[in-house]
Amino acid sequence: MGKVILVGAGPGDGGLLTVKGKAALERADVVVFDRLVGEEVLNLIPERAKRIDVGKHAGDHPVPQGEINRILLEEGQKDQLVVRLKGGDPFLFGRGGEELELLSAHHVPFEVVPGVTSALAAPAYGGIPVTHRDFASSLHIVTAHRRAGKEADIPFDALVNAGGTLVFLMGVAALPHICEGLLKAGMVPETPAAVVERGTTPRQRRISATLATLPEQAKAAGVESPAVIVVGGVCSLAEDFDWFDRLSLKGKRVVVTRPKDRAGTLSARLRALGAAVWEFPCIETAPLHPCPALTEAVEGLSRYQWLVFTSPAGVACLWDELRRTGRDARALAGVSIAAIGPGTAKALDAHGLTADFIPDVYDGAHLGAGLAERCTGRVLLLRAEWGSPALTEALEGAKLSYDDVAVYATHYAAPQSEEMRRAVEAGEVNLVTFTSASTVRGFVRSVGEGTDFSRITGVCIGEQTAKEARSFQIPVTIAREATIDGLIEIITEGV
Ligand code: SAH
Repeated sequence: MGKVILVGAGPGDGGLLTVKGKAALERADVVVFDRLVGEEVLNLIPERAKRIDVGKHAGDHPVPQGEINRILLEEGQKDQLVVRLKGGDPFLFGRGGEELELLSAHHVPFEVVPGVTSALAAPAYGGIPVTHRDFASSLHIVTAHRRAGKEADIPFDALVNAGGTLVFLMGVAALPHICEGLLKAGMVPETPAAVVERGTTPRQRRISATLATLPEQAKAAGVESPAVIVVGGVCSLAEDFDWFDRLSLKGKRVVVTRPKDRAGTLSARLRALGAAVWEFPCIETAPLHPCPALTEAVEGLSRYQWLVFTSPAGVACLWDELRRTGRDARALAGVSIAAIGPGTAKALDAHGLTADFIPDVYDGAHLGAGLAERCTGRVLLLRAEWGSPALTEALEGAKLSYDDVAVYATHYAAPQSEEMRRAVEAGEVNLVTFTSASTVRGFVRSVGEGTDFSRITGVCIGEQTAKEARSFQIPVTIAREATIDGLIEIITEGV
């Protein structure tokens, strides 16, 4: 017998998944999810896990509830961990209860991890505190879902009498009905009201109006589901408390071209600034296996005075080789170590090693120049196939002898190229971040060299990357410091 964990995925912003929900997801063997689960949360599903999408079905209709219940039972009876991921909180209009009934009847063990509900989070991201002592001392969360084409049976009189804040879910189609019902029950037409569409996501919109004018304003704005409707005095605070819309990158669409395993920090930081991040890994690094040149270099490490890394990937390859041959960090005793920049230095630090030299400017030319000043013996470079010639040219200029050992290869990955090309040309993408010349080449290869890049800005980590981008007529801005911090800084300055 397995176990089913009902997990609330939160309202969209990946940061609003709970710690416990994330832990469950990372251990899952099977994940059953539906339409409202945000992409960032879906990205946390482990590669090995089986994914069952019950949000889409033949003819774009969702899988019927009875069928979902059966899927959960069937998977839950196997010896595995099943995570049932639901938007927001699983028990708030999420039919979580119904899904547990069948499991309970068949004695399949289950747990529930509550989630951050859109009923609270969408107003919060829209600058609306659902209660406030000056306005409301109760909150009523109401479904406006229609059944069989009939309007929902909403107790308007009771809601108006209670005098609290009202939050309606599943109410976009029923908005005129809701407002009319409240007016008829005696609510003042000037009562502040708002709709928050796609709350907590980069595409969130808030439409503020009054109870009387909200239906026409929402219609004029073309509001679509999912959206929450908020009615009550608290809505008048939204203009002052509208923190989410004020984030510096709100409304900007930024492409992250780093390899998948390295994109995390940059994407997360851009998202935290409100950007809509499109992860589009253009390159992949793959260790070269077997790598006789590396084996030989490690055997003869004592011949070298300096060991030089130009990326965390190079550090990882050396470590694989040390482990494979039964060695550890002690094998590097007596060798000085150089890193091209802080990212690489951090990778070394994780193994207890402090880089002896990091250039002031994080590129191959400055790394080479710095080595020329410090080194008198032989240099070992562990880096990518076809690494930048600037480094080796500087070593040659200083008449240093070196071994340039390729330990990993960079492959181009070419995902969804047509869609990206269209978005780039239509101006739907604002910024594309490039963390190396190879990401530029990978990106151009994905969308095609003939693409019109005039509507994007390529945000480049350094001069060499920018040179590559310019050669394809991509307008560029360049980070003052070749780090992720430097990239973020130049992006926020530019908006
Ligand atoms: N269990 C979910 C609600 C499911 S009902 C929760 O706790 O959030 C589906 C309704 O939730 C939608 O019709 C919409 O009213 C609301 N909703 C879900 N996600 C939303 C979002 N990101 N922004 C605004 N409303 C959302």
